[in-house]
Amino acid sequence: MSEAREPVLVSACLLGAECRYDGRHNKDGALERELAARGLRAVPFCPEEHGGLGTPRPPAWIERDSADAVLDGCARVVTHAGVDITAQFVAGAQGALATCASHGIRRAFLKERSPSCGSCSTHVGGTLVPGPGITTALLQRHGIVVEGVEGRRA
Ligand code: SF4
Repeated sequence: MSEAREPVLVSACLLGAECRYDGRHNKDGALERELAARGLRAVPFCPEEHGGLGTPRPPAWIERDSADAVLDGCARVVTHAGVDITAQFVAGAQGALATCASHGIRRAFLKERSPSCGSCSTHVGGTLVPGPGITTALLQRHGIVVEGVEGRRA
């Protein structure tokens, strides 16, 4: 029965996984109820863990420009200390896309403001700016509709 429900990709931290950079989660009870009410089946995924970054890990941001520039090889992702972790972020985004392909996923619900999962806003050069994170940008390039979720609602 559950297999008949449409699968959607969901940031794992929104479902309670302790995969944030600081080892915490963004569990969002309201999102879980909304998905159930809409008949959607959550497939949890954390791009940064998938890309090989451990938890906890140093916070990071897109160094300059945008997520699209990172995907085009024209910008980097760096930790606050300046360590280049672009390859891990891109690998995480590619893993998200592969997971969508293997599950037939066309929609995603991802955590706002993350340099990976953000959709309306993300962190560039230490500032919150409009625009997607790297995973969201790659999914959108492939026609997957991403809804941003702030998280941490009861
Ligand atoms: S926002 Fe995305 S990358 Fe960050 S912890 Fe949640 S699932 Fe992982």
